[in-house]
Amino acid sequence: MDAREIRKVYLDFQAEHGHAVIPRAKLVPQDDPTTLFTGSGMQPLLPYLLGKPHPQGRRLADSQTCLRVQDIEEVGDNRHTTFFEMLGNWSLGDYFKAEQLPWVWTFLTDKVGLDPERIFVTCYSGDEENGIAKDTESAEIWTRLFTEAGISADQADVGTEEHAAAVGTGGARIAFYSKKNWWCRGGSAAAMPPGEPGGPDSEIFYLFPSIEHDPAYGEHCHQNCDCGRYIELGNSVFMEFAKNDAGGFDELPAQNVDYGGGLERIAAASIDSPDVYRISLMWPIIERLQELSGKSYDTHTVALRVVADHLRGATFLAVDGIVPSNKTQGYVMRRLVRRAIRFAFELGLEEDFFPQILPVIGELYASDYPEVAESLDRVTAVLVKEEKAFRRTLRKGLKQLRGYRRTGVGGEELFVLYDTFGFPVELSTEEAKNQGIELQDGWRQAFEAKLNEQRARSQQASTMKP
Ligand code: ATP
Ligand code: MG
Ligand code: MG
Ligand code: MG
Repeated sequence: MDAREIRKVYLDFQAEHGHAVIPRAKLVPQDDPTTLFTGSGMQPLLPYLLGKPHPQGRRLADSQTCLRVQDIEEVGDNRHTTFFEMLGNWSLGDYFKAEQLPWVWTFLTDKVGLDPERIFVTCYSGDEENGIAKDTESAEIWTRLFTEAGISADQADVGTEEHAAAVGTGGARIAFYSKKNWWCRGGSAAAMPPGEPGGPDSEIFYLFPSIEHDPAYGEHCHQNCDCGRYIELGNSVFMEFAKNDAGGFDELPAQNVDYGGGLERIAAASIDSPDVYRISLMWPIIERLQELSGKSYDTHTVALRVVADHLRGATFLAVDGIVPSNKTQGYVMRRLVRRAIRFAFELGLEEDFFPQILPVIGELYASDYPEVAESLDRVTAVLVKEEKAFRRTLRKGLKQLRGYRRTGVGGEELFVLYDTFGFPVELSTEEAKNQGIELQDGWRQAFEAKLNEQRARSQQASTMKP
């Protein structure tokens, strides 16, 4: 099934179960100054999960466009992109585990057609210290679902001998984790203030047996192993408890469900690909980049992934009204654009190429997100202007950087590259690594000190009277 169909089937499926399908929130939160970007489906709905009534009722669903700058270093692997869509459904004090987990199962196996044999899940192992019980309720529901499908549902606590033994036979179908499967805002169960809600989380993974476990990540492979053999498709958070004054946990009178599943990853699983760039919403971008550059995905995988991802993210930022600047969201957008241009250099794309790629991205989203179609001319103008501006200084900056080959690069040099050539610091440090140029110890602190000095200077200048 292709990604657009999956999005539609998911939302139809949720509507059949009484959910109001709501529009995506913009990538820039409207009334939340604490975060730069919408990074999950839950984020814009948090006030409702905390008790405010939602005008559209107690069952909601959407596909939320997300931007996670914190994942930028991961971009280039097979499953992390800065921009992605999260399929979500929520129960605001309505249904709970007994409905949610079978729905996730039916959606993935019946609707998307994933192989139930390759689905593995995790549940919360409990926390004795803080008096929170193991989530046996979720585990029992999963056991029933697997058993009905003729699959043995062995359980094991990760890190125990039982688990190691199960791994030998292909991994425990239901693995229990502690902190990884506990949801609360910020920090841990121990650090939560009284009244704060929290609860267990149950995650779903898809196994790619063709990927060999890499022992560099640990002796035994398991659901949360970073080797990439299991790919996380989604998770259901059950907001079940609130912390009491004595430091223990009481059941909440109204319990919520928050589900988030990665559209790109589910779409990849449905075509049996561990690589999200192979899906219908991404591959046309890679194909066009291959045509333009004459470089193949087999040999230039990372550069092609980074360019495709960053331009998709920058496009949606522009759709949502952001323009490149030196502050907050605008600076992140600028970093995405500049990084895309730098990685395009590796593909031999040294001339302006955004005008060839942006229409491809526009076409992928235009009919499902009319705001993309409506703003494409404006978006293209914004990004093409930024491309031209940066390209002028890029070559000079790279030359400057190579000039540091003998001395290495420290905060001082990074600041020159940032200030004179507009190089975001990770662009300079990555490039230095690429070129085998030494990064001096403490470069980050030294760079930040320089940056602060400059900020102080410009503040002073703006408050000085003539
Ligand atoms: P991971 O452990 O793989 O980094 P996560 O636990 O950080 O994922 P969640 O916050 O649980 O992700 O988000 C819900 C779902 O969104 C994930 O299960 C995954 O399918 C998808 N997702 C999360 N981050 C990314 C990303 N950077 N790129 C693509 N999909 C993502
Ligand atoms: Mg993550
Ligand atoms: Mg995870
Ligand atoms: Mg997760």
